[in-house]
Amino acid sequence: MRLMRVLIRRQFAVNKLGGFSRMQFWTNQKFRPRDICNDFEHAFQCRLTYKQGWRAKERAKEFINGPPSSSFHLVPWLCRRLVESIPDTRAIWTSTDEGKFKQLFVSYGPSIVGFHKGCRPILKLDACFLTGYYRGHCLSASAHDANDGLYPLAYAIVSSENDDDWLWFLVNLKEVLQGRQVVLVTDRNHSLLNGIIKVFGGECNAWCLHHLRENFSTFASSKGLKANRRKAALKLVNDLAYARTDEVFKFHLRRLYGMNEHLGKWVEDNNPMHWSNAYFPFQSWDKMYTNMAECFNNWIMPLRDMDIIQFMTGHVLKVTDILVRKRVAIQSWKLPVGDKIEEDIKKNQFVARKYMHRPTSPTEFIVYNTARKMFAVKLIPRTCSCLAWKMSGVPCAHACRAIENSGFSIYDMVDPFLSHPKLGNMTGREPGENS
Ligand SMILES: [Zn+2]
Repeated sequence: MRLMRVLIRRQFAVNKLGGFSRMQFWTNQKFRPRDICNDFEHAFQCRLTYKQGWRAKERAKEFINGPPSSSFHLVPWLCRRLVESIPDTRAIWTSTDEGKFKQLFVSYGPSIVGFHKGCRPILKLDACFLTGYYRGHCLSASAHDANDGLYPLAYAIVSSENDDDWLWFLVNLKEVLQGRQVVLVTDRNHSLLNGIIKVFGGECNAWCLHHLRENFSTFASSKGLKANRRKAALKLVNDLAYARTDEVFKFHLRRLYGMNEHLGKWVEDNNPMHWSNAYFPFQSWDKMYTNMAECFNNWIMPLRDMDIIQFMTGHVLKVTDILVRKRVAIQSWKLPVGDKIEEDIKKNQFVARKYMHRPTSPTEFIVYNTARKMFAVKLIPRTCSCLAWKMSGVPCAHACRAIENSGFSIYDMVDPFLSHPKLGNMTGREPGENS
C-alpha cells in the first residue's frame, strides 16, 4: 500500500513537473535545477532528485527555445553575421564527416585591436566545462588590460579538452596574435602543453603557480610532511618562483633540500624554467597565476548551460559591455595610469622614503636600502639590479627613490603597456573619438 502511494505521488510529480518547470523557467531563465526541486517540493510536497530537476529545466528550455540540436545548424550563419557586422572578427567552425558540429572559435575584431594596442603580451589559457544538454568545453584566452582588469581575447566551444581541440584552438589563436610574441600562462594539462609546443614552441609557456603548488603539496603529503612543515615548504616554492636570479634560486633550493631531500629533487625534476622568474626566458610581469582565466570562467557562468546560439549571442553582448565600460573608465583617468597601477607606485614610493641614494650620472643612481644593501638604478632603459622593475613594469622602491630627485616624472618611467591604452570597442572607435 505504501509502495502504491509512492508510485502515485511519483506519477503526479512527472505529470506536474513539465508545466511547472516551464512556468518557472519562463519567468526566470537563471533558475537552477536545485531551485526547481525546492519550489516543486514546496508546492506539491513531493521531493525531486537533482537529476529530475536538471531534466525538467532542459525540457523547459527545449519547450521555449526549440530542441538544442537545432541550434547547431545556426552556427555557420551566426559566424558569418559576426564577421560581417564586427570588422576584423575571426569566427570559424568545423564539422565532422557526417556534417555534425565539431568546434567553434571566436575572437572579435575590437578585442584583437585592443589586445595589440593596450594589453601586455601575456595570455592566460584555461578551460571550463559547459553544463547544457550537449555538455562540451569552453576554451579561453584572456589578457590583462593596462589597469590589471580582465580582457577577453578569444574563446572556443569544443567537445572536450583533448589534443585535437586544444591544437585547433591554439592554431586559431596564433592567427589572432599576428606574429606577436606572447607568454602563455597555463595549468599542466598534457593536451594543452603538447599543443603549445607544436604551435608556439615550449619556451613561452609559464606554468600557473597555483596548480604547481597543489601538485607540490600532494607530493609533500606523500612524503609525510605534516601541516606546518608542508606550509613552510610551500612558502619556499613561492620564494623559488619569485626568485629573479640563479643565485637566489639556488639559495632557496638549498633550504628546501635541507628540509627534505625528496622535495628539492621534486623541484629540479619539474622544469623550473617554466615557473621560476630566475630561468623563465620572457618577462612574466609577475603574473604567475591563471586566476584571470578562472575569473573569465566565472564571468561566463550564466551562459554555461545555454545552447550554443544563446552562448554566442550572450557572449558578444557581454564583451561589448566590458569593452564599452573599459573605454569609459579609461576616459575618466585623472592620471596617466589606472588606479591599480597608481596603488602599486604609491606602495613603492612609501618604502623608498627610507632609502638613501647618490647619482653617478644624470640618469644613473646607486640606491641603498635600510640594510645598506646597494642597488644600481638606470632610468634609461628603466632597469634596477633587483630586476623587479623590468619584470613588473612598475618602478621598484629603489627606482622610485632614484626618480624622486631626477627631474623625470614617475609616470614616464612606468612601462608603456601600463599607461594610456587604446582599447578597441565593438563600434571600432577608439577612446577620444566622437561617438
Ligand atoms: Zn630595485
